[in-house]
Amino acid sequence: MAFGTVESSLEIRELLRDSGGFAVIDGGLATELERKGADLNDPLWSAKCLISTPNLIREVHLDYLEAGANIITTASYQATIQGFEAKGFSREESEALLKKSVEIGFEARDLYYERHAECLSDGIENEKISKKRAILVAASVGSYGAYLADGSEYDGNYGDAVTLDTLKEFHRRRVQVLAESGADLIAFETIPNKLEAQAYREILEEDNIKTPAWFSFNSKDGINVVSGDSLLECVAIADRCKKVLAVGINCTPPRFIHGLILSIQKVTTKPILVYPNSGETYDPDQKEWIPSTGVSDEDFVPYVCKWREDGALLIGGCCRTTPTTIKAIYKALS
Ligand SMILES: [Zn+2]
Repeated sequence: MAFGTVESSLEIRELLRDSGGFAVIDGGLATELERKGADLNDPLWSAKCLISTPNLIREVHLDYLEAGANIITTASYQATIQGFEAKGFSREESEALLKKSVEIGFEARDLYYERHAECLSDGIENEKISKKRAILVAASVGSYGAYLADGSEYDGNYGDAVTLDTLKEFHRRRVQVLAESGADLIAFETIPNKLEAQAYREILEEDNIKTPAWFSFNSKDGINVVSGDSLLECVAIADRCKKVLAVGINCTPPRFIHGLILSIQKVTTKPILVYPNSGETYDPDQKEWIPSTGVSDEDFVPYVCKWREDGALLIGGCCRTTPTTIKAIYKALS
């Protein structure tokens, strides 16, 4: 299978065709890394493991593939050149760490295929590859607020000093490096406001980035994105960009997802993705998750088929979801 460019890639629609009309996105990475013993108390968050424990990241990716995910998102959400440089890494080392996040995804995919080579093979060597379950490695790009590590990706309020040009300058090289890494997709995640969506779109177009992308916004009221900007206007930015193959919502309480899918459909015919969090809310002051009275983790899975009926084609989990959640989603959709 040829991956990697808008022209030649196994596009999301093809992936959906191959996998029975839906795709399963993986679940929370940081949650699992912590469960496996990683200490993420650092401004780099899960990206810290790129340096200290890459094997744990690979393990988590593999756990999600085993659970039924077709799309694994890399540990680059909070990995930025600026963040690594602040830790004393050179520009070159910082770019190498970004690429490493994608390589770890590829390694996990290869290991998964090796592990299942026997069941994938029908005895004819050449048939092996075509029988492989399609798996995409999506290079995660977190927002500017994720780099600030002050919780501002949950309110989208960067202040007046941050302009479109600030954001483009901040993200441009990272997007270029991740595109050069050979990732199948670039996943712009937890986009908190319209300005950042516009910055991503302009980078993709100005630099003629060949790797297809998805745009995923977050909401805390079920109507607008977290900054208060209109979700419909944000989605329209993604809709007008040919480089964007899918658009949707992540890191948002499950109870809002149904309404948000219906809203997004008013603005775009691109495939819709949803990967909500477990329903808890993040308190940036305390730096911890607080249980909410909304739909809880266990209650989340029964909604999945409804979301698919609504029109979401790519479904997974974000923060605080686990391989158990993803396995249940896979089963429910199958
Ligand atoms: Zn999340």
